[in-house]
Amino acid sequence: MATYIVLLGPPGVGKGTQAKVLAKQTGLVHVSSGDLFRENIKNQTELGRLAQSYINKGELVPDDMTIAMVKARIARPDCEMGAILDGFPRTPAQADALRKILAEFGDDVKVVPYITAPEEMLVERLSRRWTCCAQGHVFHELYNPPQKAGVCDIDGSELYQRDDDKAETVKHRIQVYLKQTAPLISYYREQGKLVEVDGTQSIEQVTQDLLAALRQ
Ligand code: AMP
Repeated sequence: MATYIVLLGPPGVGKGTQAKVLAKQTGLVHVSSGDLFRENIKNQTELGRLAQSYINKGELVPDDMTIAMVKARIARPDCEMGAILDGFPRTPAQADALRKILAEFGDDVKVVPYITAPEEMLVERLSRRWTCCAQGHVFHELYNPPQKAGVCDIDGSELYQRDDDKAETVKHRIQVYLKQTAPLISYYREQGKLVEVDGTQSIEQVTQDLLAALRQ
């Protein structure tokens, strides 16, 4: 049986940062729907063109496009043993679709760590976040600064500020999360899969709590 983990939580809570660490520690693949969209935008695909207008406004990309993209990614051989899903599912329809997709392989979501933090902290984290243009490694001006300003510690590529990390768009993304994604908290809680993790702690402590949740 493969290990599919869904990282749930509001934008800016640290899902991407933690997914990268967990992927290294568990050997599972990190699948980020946001990164897949950004890759499509960079490569100027039709999907990227369609997704960009939603992303720039802080809206969700429509379910059908998102589900098809993630389904194709999960079907690739490197996800055979499972994956850490970061940013997907984000709506109940996506969660139902994920269930069906995994059922085709005789699998299901194993555990859903739900990372929490207060809204002020999310805005503060996202509006001072810097992202690496090569592989999406993330840094924070105060809490996790790169050794050299503007340069990724890990791969040396340039850091940039995402368009949708501007304060106004961030606030809208949080509202969208509360309306469209928060229902997944009870969805997975009812399935007995939800494990709450306090995202206000240090990066290292959150990782420890997540690893404990995966061992449960
Ligand atoms: P993220 O990198 O996870 O913050 O995602 C960036 C943006 O990509 C989101 O604000 C959405 O516009 C879009 N996006 C990412 N994942 C999804 C998803 N599962 N459903 C719909 N839109 C998504």
